[in-house]
Amino acid sequence: GAERTKNVLILMSDTGGVHRASAEAIRDAFKIEFGNKYRVIVKDVWKEYTGWPLNNMESSYKFMVKHVQLWKVAFHSTSPKWIHSCYLAAIAAYYAKEVEAGLMEYKPEIIISVHPLMQHIPLWVLKWQELQKRVLFVTVITDLNTCHPTWFHPGVNRCYCPSQEVAKRALFDGLEESQVRVSGLPVRPSFARAVLVKDDLRKELEMDQELRAVLLMGGGEGMGPVKETAKALEEWLYDKENKKPIGQMVVICGRNKKLASSLEAVEWKIPVKVRGFETQMEKWMGACDCIITKAGPGTIAESLIRSLPIILNDYIPGQEKGNVPYVVENGAGVFTRSPKETARIVGEWFSSKTDELEQTSENALKLAQPEAVFDIVKDIDELSEERRHLAKFSYTLTSSFASLV
Ligand code: UDP
Repeated sequence: GAERTKNVLILMSDTGGVHRASAEAIRDAFKIEFGNKYRVIVKDVWKEYTGWPLNNMESSYKFMVKHVQLWKVAFHSTSPKWIHSCYLAAIAAYYAKEVEAGLMEYKPEIIISVHPLMQHIPLWVLKWQELQKRVLFVTVITDLNTCHPTWFHPGVNRCYCPSQEVAKRALFDGLEESQVRVSGLPVRPSFARAVLVKDDLRKELEMDQELRAVLLMGGGEGMGPVKETAKALEEWLYDKENKKPIGQMVVICGRNKKLASSLEAVEWKIPVKVRGFETQMEKWMGACDCIITKAGPGTIAESLIRSLPIILNDYIPGQEKGNVPYVVENGAGVFTRSPKETARIVGEWFSSKTDELEQTSENALKLAQPEAVFDIVKDIDELSEERRHLAKFSYTLTSSFASLV
């Protein structure tokens, strides 16, 4: 018979790009695998992260004191390490309200967190509303290696880790083996399943058909030494003697509008495409031959699937640091902070060292985990089915017991 559609609520935040990309990946994979069995709602719990609460201090503050007290009491026994930070507590109070509203509005049977600060509050809200038995709660970690302990909460039904390293940390932080799964980072199915032909993509994206292409970016926010690198690349990818380019460049600036407009104003000696926030990253990656990026987990995982050699030129201290050895030690790329050095490497890859380019590309593909997101949604589906059967079973028990007395 027709099954009832189950609601899935994904909690994310639009800080950086990886949380949104992962949320969309999970949503799309649910659709592909299960059609209408699930209705997936992606909820951005604090849209104006950079502005809030600083731009609205007074009213936020009032709200915060009211709720933080409540929250502190509830959390006293488990007191997370970050509770002492007033700023984080403020954010937490803010999204407790959001989560509660989400619970009321969507009545999810499954909640998926793809953010390090979205385990404690939602789990607490569930407990508070006595919904823990009915709602499945899972965490999908989006850091490849060195991740923050706030990702781990012993109250989750599952914690999906992108690597063994992260799984080790989860176990160390008190999660049970039965809660932990190593699955790889969830990457949007458009990367894994689409058949993309480089020549066609280049035509579609109006790029040069012949010249090798380098993709330059800096996460969802366009961070890192993008402009300096673009200038250095222009020099290395231009053959001064013969007065012609030996390569082309695509710069994706993400939400960094200032960067985009300053690069658009330049008259380049080589073919250059400057873009803002792109929604079809798989096409741009598929059209290029290597990538330069900060060590963001999303961009790295996607590049590996598209078999792109990676030059890492920056990382966010803390959570992104471990991504550097992951790429370098596996031969999928190199790390350098110097824009000149970066440009030299690309220049060589596109001229005298094409073998190295190819080898690095092969190594990258070996690390790719395009199926990760499908493994995750299938496991969530199984968990949810198990729970349904358990509920039925206990119902049967109760009713047969009732018929006895
Ligand atoms: N991204 C995108 N369009 C853009 C720039 C970035 O879709 O114009 C995506 C990119 O494909 C990746 C994510 O944003 O999935 C960036 O994640 P990453 O972990 O590299 O860095 P973050 O932005 O989270 O710091």
